[in-house]
Amino acid sequence: MATHAAECRLCERMLVNASAVPICAECLGSFLALGGELCEKCGQPLAAWSLGKRPEDGAAASVECPDCQSREYGFDRARSYALYKAGLVRAIVLQKFERIEPLGRWFAGRLAEVARRESLVADVVVPVPLHRQREKERGYNQADLIAKPLARKLGLPYRAVLLVRTKPRPDKHILSLEERWDSVRGAFATRPGSQVDNLRVLLIDDVMTTGATLDACAKALRGAGAKSVIGLTVARAARQPVVGSGESNPRDAR
Ligand SMILES: [Zn+2]
Ligand SMILES: [Zn+2]
Repeated sequence: MATHAAECRLCERMLVNASAVPICAECLGSFLALGGELCEKCGQPLAAWSLGKRPEDGAAASVECPDCQSREYGFDRARSYALYKAGLVRAIVLQKFERIEPLGRWFAGRLAEVARRESLVADVVVPVPLHRQREKERGYNQADLIAKPLARKLGLPYRAVLLVRTKPRPDKHILSLEERWDSVRGAFATRPGSQVDNLRVLLIDDVMTTGATLDACAKALRGAGAKSVIGLTVARAARQPVVGSGESNPRDAR
């Protein structure tokens, strides 16, 4: 395990500031923050699909992407800080293998900004849980490293044990889209005896890929009586067609 090497963990430049986050300012600044027009429901950048294709009837009240028009997600909304690309992929992977709490706090800061900007309303913060066996092997849940400081920043109660993963993820590393949906269907449950009724839940994970995991968690929470579920993740996998070369994703001021 690395000691306090004063090098950026992504690019190996020497770290010059006194931050405890082991990633340099240039690398942190390279993350492609999501902004501009987003799907009202799932938060995907609408530019990915609809460049030049505005609704012709002029009904612009609620703009949803084709995915959301064809699928009923269990969550009310989903939002993310930035695109799952380049440096951010490596930062997220780093956090899956090493428990770097300052990085979790940095991500939490970005999510708190998204929560305020998007007016995300909630009563409690809940991390997407790992299966017990997986958490035992890893020693921690990476979503926990983000969700716990986020709850503190938002001044909301943190409920790490509200949800449990009852069905492990398949060992296979690469899952097709359909396998992803199958592997999480019914994989989560609320802990018996936990008070969920009427709660508005802010559900936190590191990455949203297909939305299947957030969907499965949200369905378990709604089934137990939650009033609403908003998914909030650090990273968001880009859909096809890929959004340009990044230019159409303006980097938000942080
Ligand atoms: Zn760097
Ligand atoms: Zn959508």
